[in-house]
Parts: sequence; structure tokens; C-alpha cells
Amino acid sequence: MFTRRVVLAVADLGFVRRIIGSPRMYRSLVRRFVAGETLEEALEEIGGIHSRGQRVSLDFLGEKVTEPALAERVVEEYLHLLSTGLPQVNGLDATVSIKLSQLGLDIDREFCAANVRTVLDAAARAERLVRLDMEDSTYVDATLDLYCRMREEGHENVGLVLQAYLRRTPDDVRRLAPYGADVRLCKGAYQEPPTVAFQRMADVRTAMLELSRSMLQGRFTLRLATHDAALIGDLRRMLEELGQRPADVEFQMLLGVGRSLQRQMTDEGYPMRIYVPYGREWYAYFARRLAERPENLRFVARHMFRD
Ligand SMILES: Cc1cc2nc3c(=O)[nH]c(=O)nc-3n(C[C@H](O)[C@H](O)[C@H](O)COP(=O)(O)OP(=O)(O)OC[C@H]3O[C@@H](n4cnc5c(N)ncnc54)[C@H](O)[C@@H]3O)c2cc1C
Repeated sequence: MFTRRVVLAVADLGFVRRIIGSPRMYRSLVRRFVAGETLEEALEEIGGIHSRGQRVSLDFLGEKVTEPALAERVVEEYLHLLSTGLPQVNGLDATVSIKLSQLGLDIDREFCAANVRTVLDAAARAERLVRLDMEDSTYVDATLDLYCRMREEGHENVGLVLQAYLRRTPDDVRRLAPYGADVRLCKGAYQEPPTVAFQRMADVRTAMLELSRSMLQGRFTLRLATHDAALIGDLRRMLEELGQRPADVEFQMLLGVGRSLQRQMTDEGYPMRIYVPYGREWYAYFARRLAERPENLRFVARHMFRD
């Protein structure tokens, strides 16, 4: 069985990058998880999602930006997306998801904060929420600090993500409670050491259930992001027990993952938001999707040794 660490290390090898980056692999595997390299392709994809009665969150791919000019280009893309892209799909319920390391967090915190403010202001004009995706554990403090700062400055249209696999997350929930935060709760997608994150799936599931319960009983707006059918069963039972109707709690899933579950839950009346990433910088995002499901890596391996 491949572990997340092994898959991420293999995906980082130069020759594997070249094979995955080939047009054939892009078409046959990457394209399932990524809406395309351009906004036009992403808009076509979200048109289909909207027609199925689902919501979207758009993510312009990229992370760990080290050049200020690149971070500024990312801001421009989000402004264009908010003012021109999203309005092209009538009646679409859309949010945007951003990564702080793409907006310059590794360059300078104040520069990143200014970039986030610009995106939040544009999103407020478009009446959209901006969610701060959560990256690896070295970014968690800075992401929480920036979230709290934006809320204290009066920005209401900002949400964030918490990862159930992190041992620290119950403390973070306590810190966020006074803000009535809008939180996407997911398991967590990065390679983390045992001192920082639970390693056993059973422990991550238990953490996700306990965190969900405490947030639902608090002042949070909770979004449940998972494709894990067993966990979803437990979450649904818990929601029922807490007197929530299906329409009360949004589930979120990734483009190309758990497609039949997405349809089934939409049909049952659960609000379903699909995370739609697009852009040329898809490699790191795609590698995390490979690491979540070893079959995806086997697919790559089979295609490597063809012709
Ligand atoms: C909307 C959304 C936003 C997210 N945002 C973040 C974030 O900001 N930060 C972060 O760290 N993580 C994020 N994640 C990823 C998350 O942390 C998990 O890594 C990911 O969702 C896989 O966990 P799972 O709960 O779906 O369960 P798993 O047990 O991993 O998967 C359950 C089932 O889903 C299917 N499945 C899951 N992944 C794949 C895949 N890659 N390919 C094919 N099938 C698959 C399989 O059938 C699998 O058996 C997000 C996830 C979602 C849905």
C-alpha cells in the first residue's frame, strides 16, 4: 500500500512530473480533477454544475508564490473572476477559495494581507464569500491570525478551513468561536508528522465527528467537506439527532471525486458545493489528489509503460 508520503515523493520526481504533464495524461486523468487551464474552461464546467442544482467554489490554482509580481497577477485573476467571470452564469451560487501562500504569505505578511483585502473588497461588491483554504501545518497560525484580523477590520465575507487530522484543531475551534466563523471542515490533505496530525483514518474520522458536533452546537456556520461515505452516514445521523434538516447544512466535494455521491446527496436535498480548481499551476493540487487514492497512481503507472 502506498502511503501519502511515498506518493507525494514519487510525484515530485522529475520524470514523473514530465509524464503527468504530457498532453495525454492531462486529458485522461488530470482533467478529471481540474476544470481546465483557463477561466473560460472553468466557466463551462461550472455551467454544468449549476444546471445540476449544485453550488461552486472557484479556486485559481497555485501556491507558495515567491515573486510579488506573481502574487499581484493572482489578485488580478480573482478580480476578473469576480467582476466578469462569475456573473456570466446566471443565478450561480458561487464562492471563491484562495490560498494565502499564493497571495504572498511567504514574501511578506503585510503584502499578503493587503492582497487579501483587495480580493475581499471586490468579493463584497459582488456579494461573494472568500474562503481561505488551509495549507500545511506551518501555515495554520498565520492563516488564523489573518482571518481574525480581517474580521476585526470589519470584513464579513470571509471564511476559512479547518483540518480534522490536526491535533491542534479543537483549540483553533475555541479561538474562532467568538467570531461565529464560516468553516469548511475537511480531513486534511498534507503529509504531516504524528506529533502534529493523527495518522490513522479511524482517528481522523472520530475527530471530524467530534469537531462537527461542537461547531454545530456553537455559533459556527459549518460546511462538511468529505467524500467518505461511511463518515457521511455518521454525520447525517448526527445532524438528524441535533434536529438539523438536510437543507440546513452544506456538504462540499471536489470536482471529479465521488460524482455519484454528489448527485445522490443533491437529489436528497442536501446543499452541495463543488470545489472547482482551474489554472496552469495544477501540479501540486493534482499530486495531493493522487496521494488520496492509490488507484490514481496505478493509473499513472500503467500509462507510463504504454507505447
Ligand atoms: C471541498 C473541499 C475542499 C477542501 N479543501 C481543503 C483544504 O483547504 N485544505 C486541506 O488540507 N484539504 C482540503 N480538502 C481535502 C481533504 O482534506 C481530503 O484530503 C480529501 O477530501 C479526501 O478526504 P475524504 O474525506 O474525501 O476521505 P477519503 O477517505 O480520502 O476518501 C473517501 C472516498 O472518496 C473518494 N476519493 C477521495 N479522494 C479521491 C481522489 N483523490 N480520487 C478519487 N477518489 C477519491 C474515494 O472513493 C474514497 O474511498 C478539501 C476537500 C474538499 C472536498
